Amino acid sequence: MSNKKELLLIIISLLGLFLTACSQGDESDQEETTENSEETKENAEDNKSDKDKKEETEKDKPSSDQKDQKNNDSSEKQDDSSDKQKNEDDGSANEKILPAGTLSHGDSGQKVSMMQKALNRLGYSLTVDGDLGWTTVWAIKDFQAQFPNLKIDGVYGKNTREYILKAVNGEIEAKPGTGLENNDTEDNNEKNSNVVSNPSSILALVNKNNQLPASYVPKNLTNPNVRFPFTEDLPKKQMRQVAANALENMFNAGDKAGVDLFAQSGYRSYDRQRAIFAANASEHGHEAANQFSAQAGESEHQTGLTMDVTSADINYRLNTNFANTDEGEWVKKHASEYGFIIRYPKGKTSITGYQYEPWHLRYVGEKAAKYIDSNNTTLEQYLGGQ
Ligand SMILES: [Zn+2]
Repeated sequence: MSNKKELLLIIISLLGLFLTACSQGDESDQEETTENSEETKENAEDNKSDKDKKEETEKDKPSSDQKDQKNNDSSEKQDDSSDKQKNEDDGSANEKILPAGTLSHGDSGQKVSMMQKALNRLGYSLTVDGDLGWTTVWAIKDFQAQFPNLKIDGVYGKNTREYILKAVNGEIEAKPGTGLENNDTEDNNEKNSNVVSNPSSILALVNKNNQLPASYVPKNLTNPNVRFPFTEDLPKKQMRQVAANALENMFNAGDKAGVDLFAQSGYRSYDRQRAIFAANASEHGHEAANQFSAQAGESEHQTGLTMDVTSADINYRLNTNFANTDEGEWVKKHASEYGFIIRYPKGKTSITGYQYEPWHLRYVGEKAAKYIDSNNTTLEQYLGGQ
């Protein structure tokens, strides 16, 4: 073999190697782009309801601006299967701090430990044991209570995860212990916090220790044919049929007795109650708000068995002056005849958890109402003594 031939072969081989190297380079570039595209898409999907979150997550990505720009156009076009795949082996920084998915009371494992560690980075002092017990539920709730956009349910889900990430990254501030009152809440949770198992019973007990499921919406909601101080057809006019009938009877009797009752506020959905509590908490502080305003799930208004009533004499407001109006006096005397009780009586705050509310009527049926009224007791005691 001549040197020339040998040289030619070497050149051809080198050329071959060079071409292979070039094409591999292209391939790996493509792979990387595809992967990052999926990542970006995934994040866009996770966060598509919240522009800020999207920006945050994308900011944290190691990918370059250029890539983000390239991929943004396609980021709205989604493929769920690629999302799922990416979720399992996502190596992004965020996934190392907090797991994806949903975690709730009773869950255990590595994901719970990760979440506990992240909460501890915010200043909570949880034992990182991978068990999602009441203490961890309390920490999640306490965290959630500080941000009006989060549902205070003690469940770690997508939105809560995003907020914890923001807090870990220093973009928002969380102050452990300020959301919920203190560790008493935690102890109460441990002993007493229950989900009401009979939400549609007219004797359902709903209070700070017995919460209605977020999904509970009473059947047969209807507008009672009584006076309201407003004309709009608002959802808060509604009551369950059985209570609406009783309310109409009571108002008719009041009319005959010469008192002009007005109905102010009946049914309230879980979400509506959450918004109300958040507004009260931001104005008065969480602890104070908790004395007069129910948290979501803890409001009797969600049962559809409750109506706040008022009088023109106090400009249709809901305050303790109602007790001194003709209407307030008449209600105190006669409500039980129609199956209603003043649910939060004077001097019973330690039992009911709420200050005196002479305007807040709860339908429990005549038998229970008469017993509770004549014995000067509460629904809590009535049910506890049964
Ligand atoms: Zn009320």
